[in-house]
Amino acid sequence: MEFFDDAVNKTKEVFETVSKKTGEVIATEKQRFDMASLKTKREKDYTALGKLYFDLVKDDENAAEDVKVLVDAIKEKSSQIDKLAAQIQGAKNKLICSNCGAKIDNNSIYCNICGEKLGGEE
Ligand SMILES: [Zn+2]
Repeated sequence: MEFFDDAVNKTKEVFETVSKKTGEVIATEKQRFDMASLKTKREKDYTALGKLYFDLVKDDENAAEDVKVLVDAIKEKSSQIDKLAAQIQGAKNKLICSNCGAKIDNNSIYCNICGEKLGGEE
């Protein structure tokens, strides 16, 4: 009987250790997920705060030098983004002639360079 009780106690001990560890693992995974999620949300808050601050200081000549560097970097990127957006919009309205490679307005029926029929098989 003593041996049997011992074995039961040992089994119980092992089971408790495992389930306790399992509980810890699950808690840790959830904590990691929660932390990652909070970090992502915090990054969005930082970005939103940065945009608010950018609008406040973008034309401020008296802004601190390191702030001006970032303001100029943002303005430069915005200008590049605008140029690319215009190019993309322009490309959308153009067709490439399959015969001569010329760029033609997408409402044209014939290529104004070589006369090829555009936008459809013959
Ligand atoms: Zn053509």
